[in-house]
Amino acid sequence: MITITLKDGSKKSYKKNIAVIDIAKNISEGFARNIISASFNGKTVEVSTNLNENGVLELYTWDDNEGKKAFWHSSSHVLAQALEELYPGVKLTIGPAIKNGFYYDVDFNDHLITDKDFDKIESKMISISREKHDFKMRSVSKNDAIKFYKKLSNDYKIELINDLSDGEITFCDHSKFTDLCKGGHIPNTGIIKAVKITNVAGAYWRANEKNKQLTRVYGISFPKQKLLNEYLLNLKEAKKRDHRVIGKKLNLFTFSTKVGSGLPLWLPKGVDLRKRLEDFLIKAQKKAGYEMVITPHIGNKELYITSGHYEKYGEDSFQSIKTPKENEEFLLKPMNCPHHCEIYNSRKFSYRDLPVRYAEFGTVYRYEQSGELHGLTRVRGFTQDDAHIFCSEDQLDKEFKDVIDLTLYVFNRLGLNNFSAQISLRDPENSEKYIGDKKVWEKSENAILKAAKEKNLNFNIKYGEAAFYGPKLDFMVNDALGREWQLGTIQVDYNLPERFDLTYRGKDNLSHRPVMIHRAPFGSLERFVAILLENTAGNLPLWLTPNQVIILPISDKYQKYSKKVLNLIENNEIRALLDNRSETTSRKIRDAELSKIPFMIIIGEKENDKDMISLRSHGGKDYGMIKLEKFFRIIEKEIKDV
Ligand SMILES: [Zn+2]
Ligand SMILES: [Zn+2]
Repeated sequence: MITITLKDGSKKSYKKNIAVIDIAKNISEGFARNIISASFNGKTVEVSTNLNENGVLELYTWDDNEGKKAFWHSSSHVLAQALEELYPGVKLTIGPAIKNGFYYDVDFNDHLITDKDFDKIESKMISISREKHDFKMRSVSKNDAIKFYKKLSNDYKIELINDLSDGEITFCDHSKFTDLCKGGHIPNTGIIKAVKITNVAGAYWRANEKNKQLTRVYGISFPKQKLLNEYLLNLKEAKKRDHRVIGKKLNLFTFSTKVGSGLPLWLPKGVDLRKRLEDFLIKAQKKAGYEMVITPHIGNKELYITSGHYEKYGEDSFQSIKTPKENEEFLLKPMNCPHHCEIYNSRKFSYRDLPVRYAEFGTVYRYEQSGELHGLTRVRGFTQDDAHIFCSEDQLDKEFKDVIDLTLYVFNRLGLNNFSAQISLRDPENSEKYIGDKKVWEKSENAILKAAKEKNLNFNIKYGEAAFYGPKLDFMVNDALGREWQLGTIQVDYNLPERFDLTYRGKDNLSHRPVMIHRAPFGSLERFVAILLENTAGNLPLWLTPNQVIILPISDKYQKYSKKVLNLIENNEIRALLDNRSETTSRKIRDAELSKIPFMIIIGEKENDKDMISLRSHGGKDYGMIKLEKFFRIIEKEIKDV
């Protein structure tokens, strides 16, 4: 007999050699029907695998990430079979599951695959799936594996097999199709009910541009047609919400190849928006005891050697700038922290002065490969809403909690209400990767966990994801489409105070080391604006939006009165526009709706004669004819309420 422990901790004994799926059936037939993959003692297994030792069994459905992974991995086998049957002579290479679906890299020889082929491939995959073939794993000797692929003249697979040792090579069979594979499948192809080929792109064999370029065929599959439909709808909505499109429409920012890729150019409306975000944060930070500092865009190479950033990132950063006479070397600032350490070092602190909190909207530059750049979310120059807190060890808990509070306040004011936290700790088996004393690491990791628990954050822990200099807490925000974005970070650092020899005089009159906290609620202004635009589809909160109200006179006769209304509104510090084009009223209203301005004021004869306005909100709420004073109260209340 063997003892199997399930995820909930329950234990049960079974006869040796019992299949995973039979254990699931023993729990309940209905439950077993939804099980599509499993892991045993932390290793992926097939649901048909027989177990013959004690261990922990995890059973996955489509709703688990592991379940999806097995589903998409298995779908890539079906894709490979379909391609082999449709385009005889193609050579298959690798085909993994990815975050959303799967791909297969294929050498099509001279055949060019385009989106015209997608229908055909999808139909073939579905017809294979319907035949309900079981996925079956088998071990194969290295010799036989090489022989198999020699027959197919597939040197790619032979190269992969040559990297494996005899005894660890397995094949997966389904239908008449065989692939080199490590395992992790759904029970059979019949579960795959809906398939979409989403894209084709070039990809070099083994990601090396000296090698042959292959065709990467991307796809996604689902156990229900309804799920595919939802996915496609979401994709369409995401396209509409693309911040690059909205940013252009709202005249917020632009890019120029002459200036350089990944270097956003902010337009006047975008600058106003940024300024409002900055002012909002400056005000909140001032209340929380932060002081503003400004540091230059470049720093001496020695500074980053001292901080350790050069050792870690030097190779991947922009190359240094040399002064012509002295031959001094400068780097574009990749981080603000070393500069802030030197500000701290510019005077002597006693324990009574701590915590010291320096904040800066600091622009930093980091090299990203051109292929990685994307709108405002992946850029080469960006402005962090950065701050560094220098405190004593016993202030760490409170400071960390205060930073969480400030971050939550920011999210709340911006309508980002669906978030979780990810806490990144050391990989316990790889401790040489990290700089600093083990004991202080433990202390800071505990401080983060304690603060997260006390603040009731919904968090998960990732071991091995900590930065080399300290553990951290990242806020992940889910947007309106359920997509996850990484936003603000809070990071404890015992390392930089050491490297910069930061000290303060303690109660005991001796010299002590402060602890440093790095934090940025927005992350970067660029990325934050992008996420806001995509989350709100451009309908920014009233306090933040570029134009809060637009005045639409229904004929030229009311221009004078409309201008008077505009002046009064602007005097009340409300951002307003006057649409004095000679267009029809319905056209003006439609354009105002499209430009997502929250309020519309319509001025006609009645309004003009009675010294009133007619007010409508974006989305159609009609307030009727009201006094301007009432409009001020409405807008004031709406801003206060969020
Ligand atoms: Zn496989
Ligand atoms: Zn920092």
